[in-house]
Amino acid sequence: MSQPRHVLLATRSAGKLREIRAWVEGTPLVWHGLEEFPHVAEPEETGRTFAENARLKALYYAEHSGMSTLADDSGLEVDGLGGEPGVHSAYFAGRPRDDAANNHKLVRLIAHVPSADRTARYQCVMAFVHGGSVVLETHGAVEGVIIETPRGREGFGYDPHFWLPDRGRTMAELSPDEKNAISHRGRALRAILPQILHLLGVQP
Ligand code: IMP
Repeated sequence: MSQPRHVLLATRSAGKLREIRAWVEGTPLVWHGLEEFPHVAEPEETGRTFAENARLKALYYAEHSGMSTLADDSGLEVDGLGGEPGVHSAYFAGRPRDDAANNHKLVRLIAHVPSADRTARYQCVMAFVHGGSVVLETHGAVEGVIIETPRGREGFGYDPHFWLPDRGRTMAELSPDEKNAISHRGRALRAILPQILHLLGVQP
């Protein structure tokens, strides 16, 4: 029997954690959370891109935990807002992180944007650090349109305002499984998981 492989899942966002855990728990790896490292402060997300921030977080938590680490950075880009909130998605309305305030700001700004420019996408980059460096990186995206009136109670963050034209529903009206099947995070995760297993020499 080979030794179990331990991986740290480096996110403190409850919404993301729920979605990622739903996928990774079926894998033959032992997953650890940041609740095991309560004294490690969050790093400053100084990157200009999702990829830079994902790498920065994965490297930081790997160094502080001594474990192989999977981190993600994600956010919403709205075309009519010049790509904002982008890497500022979590703190769009300021600190501390507040989904309701972020959505309020989004609705206020989108009111001045013509409907044709309300197209948007969620982006996610996953980075995996092993042996002290970033060895794997994947990306996922999903296209949608921002609507002013919120719909649905599932998901988190901007989901009640993220309309999926193909589905005729918002992201917050999808079940957790439906969201994971099409979401930016689900796509990035499905791309990186087999690569992590391969790298660590674990049979899927
Ligand atoms: P991060 O923790 O720096 O990656 O911040 C990501 C932010 O982007 C979250 O706090 C949300 O505001 C937004 N975001 C990312 N993914 C989603 C999603 O799946 N649904 C809704 N909002 C999301």
